[in-house]
Amino acid sequence: MDKKYHIWTEGCQMNVADSQRVGSALEHLGYAFTGNAEEADVIVLNTCVVRQSAEDKALGRLHSLRPLKDRNPNLVINLMGCLVGVRGAEKLQKKLPFVDVFSPPSDPGPLVSFLTQGEIQSLVDAETTRRFMMMDDELVLPLHERGQLVSAHIPVVYGCSHACTFCIIPYRRGIERSRPVGDIVGEARSLAAQGVKEITLLGQIVDRYGKDIPDGPNLAGLLRVIHEVEGIERIRFLTSHPNYFGEDLLDAVAELPKVMPHFEIPIQAGDDTVLENMKRGYTQADYRRLVDKIRAKAPGCSIATDIIVGFPGETDEQFMETYRVLSDLRLDVAHLARYSPREGTVSARRMDDDVSAEEKMRRFRLLEALQEQIVGEINAQYLGQTVEVLFEEKVKGRWKGRTPTNKLVFVESEDELRGQILPVSVTWTGPWSMQASLVRQPVTL
Ligand code: SF4
Repeated sequence: MDKKYHIWTEGCQMNVADSQRVGSALEHLGYAFTGNAEEADVIVLNTCVVRQSAEDKALGRLHSLRPLKDRNPNLVINLMGCLVGVRGAEKLQKKLPFVDVFSPPSDPGPLVSFLTQGEIQSLVDAETTRRFMMMDDELVLPLHERGQLVSAHIPVVYGCSHACTFCIIPYRRGIERSRPVGDIVGEARSLAAQGVKEITLLGQIVDRYGKDIPDGPNLAGLLRVIHEVEGIERIRFLTSHPNYFGEDLLDAVAELPKVMPHFEIPIQAGDDTVLENMKRGYTQADYRRLVDKIRAKAPGCSIATDIIVGFPGETDEQFMETYRVLSDLRLDVAHLARYSPREGTVSARRMDDDVSAEEKMRRFRLLEALQEQIVGEINAQYLGQTVEVLFEEKVKGRWKGRTPTNKLVFVESEDELRGQILPVSVTWTGPWSMQASLVRQPVTL
């Protein structure tokens, strides 16, 4: 009988992509996916610690597995991701004796070698990792995703060498390491062969792709290479950083029809002193100039950002700079977060978390209401427009898909629309999604 594996993933797209690669390695080893942890022979918990709440959730999920291990000592439990980090797991091993394997982010090696050689070995070198993850150069999707998954993520840069004072990622994912172009193209091809139509290239600062590979292509160059992969209809990339967003990248987006005009560029705060204390490396004026440049070269594009409210020392006046910049720039998305000190970061070590929880929530709510109004107005401009939508899946009887500008659209249809890019006419808009009707009958697949 097939041995089964279950993967529990929390956190960012990078974690989703990492879990997919662990799944691929386990599929290669003959394991089959189960959605029910109780049925599994191997359970992988891929964790996030970007906020205390995420860390608590991961530990809670882990401890809920203990009875399963007590009942079945042969069950293999693998703790992976940012809770483990790149600095090894000695401390965790003492605290969590019922966990069999501890794996750094993006590294399926320890689990694969534990299952194949009965011993834990970290596969630090890329070639060995690649051999385990992509035997015969194929990234195998779990059975239930083959032919079903329309949009997939491909990590292109692991880690981050920037040092934002609030961020735990460099401590948990290590310094930036770009992946070889061949691996990325190999994955894109194998995903396309399994029905994937859209690829999102991932990096903490994706614009820095290739900076550590002499004579290798940068992100703009990589986009041009991936653009030639047959079967891939749409390409996206995230997350950008204002300091590394080059002119050639904008040219590539403007010239390459498969590259979608949607940008993810965190500003984090509006006030220059707060940005300085965050060590972001740019000013509000720099960010405004970048947005103007992007909108000039890619008219009609969409821009998303990240904002932290209540950073140590942030006064109400400084917060109002964030409010003002969002009101002026009218961005399509703002991922909002309240500052949460992360153990080990510079801000947690050197700065007082002096903005009260109530005040953080007040500022958060103010920006939330502002963005809801702005995005509602932006989306209202789509009403009656015809836009191209890539359909991903059926949710509660309606087809869900996205426009090139990453807007969420729902359509009623009895036909099989999965993986099709079809023109739709927008009939209703709201701040978070739209409804539309098919302009013409879909191709019967
Ligand atoms: S750029 Fe800053 S916020 Fe982003 S991952 Fe790197 S250190 Fe963290």
